[in-house]
Amino acid sequence: MSNLVIKNLHVSVETNEGDKPILHGVDLTINAGEIHAIMGPNGSGKSTLAYALAGHPKYTITEGEAYLDGENIVEMSTDERARAGLFLAMQYPVEVPGVTVSNFLRTAKTAIDGEAPALRTWVGELKESMKKLRMEDDFAQRDLNTGFSGGEKKRNEILQMELLKPKFAILDETDSGLDVDALRVVSEGVNRIHAETNVGVALITHYTRILQYITPDHVHVFANGRVVESGGPDLATQLEDEGYDRYL
Ligand code: ADP
Ligand code: MG
Ligand code: MG
Repeated sequence: MSNLVIKNLHVSVETNEGDKPILHGVDLTINAGEIHAIMGPNGSGKSTLAYALAGHPKYTITEGEAYLDGENIVEMSTDERARAGLFLAMQYPVEVPGVTVSNFLRTAKTAIDGEAPALRTWVGELKESMKKLRMEDDFAQRDLNTGFSGGEKKRNEILQMELLKPKFAILDETDSGLDVDALRVVSEGVNRIHAETNVGVALITHYTRILQYITPDHVHVFANGRVVESGGPDLATQLEDEGYDRYL
């Protein structure tokens, strides 16, 4: 079975004052088809984990390993990680003026598959996915994330996930800043892709709200750069009542 195994991961981020250690030994295993909610207070290192796994140049893995289907991704470039089947939906998607959503997606798909998708099926898939995510057709011709509302940016991340068909997806606060309608559309999208492709998901979130729509198999609490507690969906309910105070 496909899996993503993170062992004793230590990560530093590059700052103006030099490298700053953020993650202090994270262990986490996600099997294909599992949904893991990664929760925790602001500043606990959730995005750092996401960036480090995706291969962001400012985040250095100083110790530990991460394996995707047995292959050590720590030694891979960002592109190689994506080709191996890893996908990151960013907390703050980057605006790219001059590159349309359609061109970006086709370029990314070509890079990941090693060949361009057949035009006719591709256009059909893109339209179909956009429709399910309640996006108008002309959305594909807009410049990537440029002037997008919060909800449009997050739906666009899910559109990428659907078309790129990763083995593992890290969704970093895909729920933040969404109104209830957008949250429902995004959650339905994740659930549909999960059911259709058996993708393994790390759902990073500060709030329990999205877990009313997406049911996690496992819940992990992050604090001060470590996983401090793991449990089932009940743990999220408990956090909803009690907050993160007792981990600080
Ligand atoms: P979370 O996503 O859980 O809110 P982050 O991973 O974004 O947490 O941040 C964890 C810690 O690392 C915070 O204390 C934050 O200030 C620090 N940090 C992250 N990125 C940088 C950076 N580029 N420069 C300085 N500090 C950073
Ligand atoms: Mg499942
Ligand atoms: Mg974050």
